[in-house]
Amino acid sequence: MSKIRMTTPLVEMDGDEMTRILWQKIKDILILPHVELKTEYYDLGLKNREATKDKVTVEGAEAIKKYGVGVKCATITPNAQRVTEYNLSTMWKSPNGTIRSMLDGTVFRAPILAKGIKVLIPSWTKPITIARHAYGDVYSGVEAYVEGPGKAEFVLPDGTRKTIFDFKSAGIIQTMHNTDASIRSFARSCMNYALDVKKDLWFSTKDTISKIYDHRFKDIFREIYETEYKEKFEKAGIEYFYTLIDDAVARVVKSSGGMIWACKNYDGDVMSDMVATAFGSLAMMTSVLVSPDGKYEYEAAHGTVTRHYYKYLNGEETSTNSMATIFAWTGALRKRAQLDGLKDLEDFADRLEKASIDTIESGVMTKDLVGIFDGKATAVNSEDFLKAIAERL
Ligand code: NAP
Ligand code: MG
Repeated sequence: MSKIRMTTPLVEMDGDEMTRILWQKIKDILILPHVELKTEYYDLGLKNREATKDKVTVEGAEAIKKYGVGVKCATITPNAQRVTEYNLSTMWKSPNGTIRSMLDGTVFRAPILAKGIKVLIPSWTKPITIARHAYGDVYSGVEAYVEGPGKAEFVLPDGTRKTIFDFKSAGIIQTMHNTDASIRSFARSCMNYALDVKKDLWFSTKDTISKIYDHRFKDIFREIYETEYKEKFEKAGIEYFYTLIDDAVARVVKSSGGMIWACKNYDGDVMSDMVATAFGSLAMMTSVLVSPDGKYEYEAAHGTVTRHYYKYLNGEETSTNSMATIFAWTGALRKRAQLDGLKDLEDFADRLEKASIDTIESGVMTKDLVGIFDGKATAVNSEDFLKAIAERL
């Protein structure tokens, strides 16, 4: 049987620790036997980021801008301990942060569902995708402790002053900002993605209380929807729905899932943890960065699974779940296939996902899932899990 051909290279970004080990095994066991893989390879492993003074991260992001689709392995974000461990010349920035700011993208996180994996909210039969705005608000807020008493004010560029509070005694202040440009990018990324995956888009803020700040988010989304996307949504049979954040929380919990829920930065931070936990496991969470001009970077939502890597280095057996990394590959291959009109490659991505889910549903899984599986489960090691999938493929 001849292998499936590709036409445009996929941008491949390798990473660190246990996920780097899985990365190679996924390619060897699941992809290379079937696909004549064409990638442009960037090694974002910490050693090579140090060797290239982190230029490799920027080059990788540039390549995604050029070709349109990338797949990324989890990478170490250095902290003080990593600086010592890897003998780094400086504490390099988070690669994900660098790529996100270069692509001006929004991150969408969605769980992988398999029958038998207990969902804590039983009505959630379809995945819920959280789209988190990754710019501004409290994450770049300016805060102060006020000894008081006295009036605290802020000054606008035109010199206008606004009283924050007239303190009688000690207290605290927080100010934050966002930009029209960033909110517009966020809206377009969400609407493009909704059209892409043909799912309803929900958006929520607290505009009744925050009559200028949150209201601006609501207005920009509405304007972009009406002027650029309304017709496309109607044609695709999907809906844009805005509601207050409290109403959204109540509706999501009662729903059967299936929507994309766009959230402001803080809401998305909090809600994505709730959704991930309710759907089972971080190891079953996929993540895709989408830029407003339609560039895609696929990855797993989890990190490099350091604890398992040290066991691996000690020669001990590991049972690390590769589902989210496999789905990063299938997501990227499917997108490449759709852009290049390669039906057989698209079918392969579908078959690989189905084989992976079927393997879990048949009771064969890594250790992390055994405790949340409803039925007879057999725990296998990292490699045997991939081999079990390969057999079904
Ligand atoms: P982590 O790698 O996500 O792992 C935390 C724990 O979650 C693991 O020890 C393991 O629990 C469980 N887990 C996560 N993924 C799993 C999988 N695929 N299979 C089985 N269990 C899994 O987070 P971390 O340990 O906090 O961070 C490690 C490194 O990853 C850090 O250097 C951080 O900078 C980096 N990181 C990178 C990204 C990214 O590139 N997107 C994201 C987050 C973190 P048990 O040990 O109990 O089995
Ligand atoms: Mg969080």
